[in-house]
Amino acid sequence: MTATPDNGAAPLLQQLSERIDAKRDELISLTQDLIRIPTLNPPGEFYTDCCRYLGERLQQRGFEVAYYRAEGSPGDSDRYPRENVVARKSGGSGPCVHFNSHIDVVAVGANWTRDPFSAELAGDLIYGRGACDMKGGLAASVIAVEAYLELFPNHAGAIEISGTADEESGGYGGVAWLAEQGIMAAPRIDHVIIPEPLNKDRVCLGHRGVWWAEIETRGRIAHGSMPFDGDSAIRHMGAVMEKLEKELYPVLARKRTSMPVVPDGAKESTLNINSIHGGESEEFDGLPTALVADSCRMIIDRRFLIEEQLDAVKAEVGEILDTLSRERAGFAYSLRDLFEVIPTMTSEQAPVVTEVSRAIEQVLNKAPDMVVSPGTYDQKHIDRIGKLSNCIAYGPGILTLAHQPDEYVSVTDMLDSAKVMALALHNLLNPGQGA
Ligand SMILES: [Zn+2]
Repeated sequence: MTATPDNGAAPLLQQLSERIDAKRDELISLTQDLIRIPTLNPPGEFYTDCCRYLGERLQQRGFEVAYYRAEGSPGDSDRYPRENVVARKSGGSGPCVHFNSHIDVVAVGANWTRDPFSAELAGDLIYGRGACDMKGGLAASVIAVEAYLELFPNHAGAIEISGTADEESGGYGGVAWLAEQGIMAAPRIDHVIIPEPLNKDRVCLGHRGVWWAEIETRGRIAHGSMPFDGDSAIRHMGAVMEKLEKELYPVLARKRTSMPVVPDGAKESTLNINSIHGGESEEFDGLPTALVADSCRMIIDRRFLIEEQLDAVKAEVGEILDTLSRERAGFAYSLRDLFEVIPTMTSEQAPVVTEVSRAIEQVLNKAPDMVVSPGTYDQKHIDRIGKLSNCIAYGPGILTLAHQPDEYVSVTDMLDSAKVMALALHNLLNPGQGA
């Protein structure tokens, strides 16, 4: 902590820290209010309530607030509108720093010992669905910005805070839609911080790639007592699985990325067989009828590395299927793409990375870890649609608690990460005169 703010008083970090610490109770009540709006996705409950809550708060503090419904996006309806809020505080000339949080939370699931939506405070922890992923991060960014604005009402550049829909289901009614409109995109914005729960001392640069696909093998139906008259699609799928086990999995296990993916197991390429179904429907209670399966379908979830090309990833599976077509009598298949995301990793030299890293060092007195997420999040849309690579995830909360029962966020972690965000904000808005 070296530089001093304009008034030459205490060092900037000290001033920001005092302001943020003084807002501890406000941070707790803001986090609790957000958790108590049960923005479950699916189906997309209470998005409008959550956006209005956030928008009205920020409007009272001088932000211009705009609401955007992503009409026509998946799941959007009058009953469940895909509502988003973007609040902007414009100052002097300078860059735009944007804090983006998703407002949706996943289903509660079983094994809770606390009420998932009462936002109980116990010691330093606030419990509830979305506490960690990511209403705690959203609240921390709001408090960081509000504390900053008290110190710098005549700040340079522009500060934006958004609450967006549907991250947990792909972000098409949220960040993807806003990026397509040019709202969450270059050149309108310059720096993006997504306060996802990656731990307060880590900077998340990006994520691995995704390819979801459906493989179907086909056969010929016949009486189950005379299977030789038919051709079993399930046995054909068994041949596919054998090839995956013997040929593809060993290849994937040998691939290691230079991306700093956490946890360590995700530094390899991975393939999950998400589901498999062959033959008759399972949706009946009685006895099955005697049939040879004429169709078997498998969904695969392939996570790939920045060193791999999507075409090559697909070709590995395609070659196995083509080989079986040549070698195995009667083998017929189709391969259908379901979903794909290209890996993304922001450069460690990008300004948002260097400023958040410096702020972590100053606030926590330790060098940050640079990490990459095993799964994807909304950065993919900002990168590909918004054409803005100067984006990271940084926020409080323990990654492995996300989507778990008794999810919580620590108030201390929120306060610390708010200090990091406020300090980084100042240095991003005032490049070249950093604190
Ligand atoms: Zn999240």
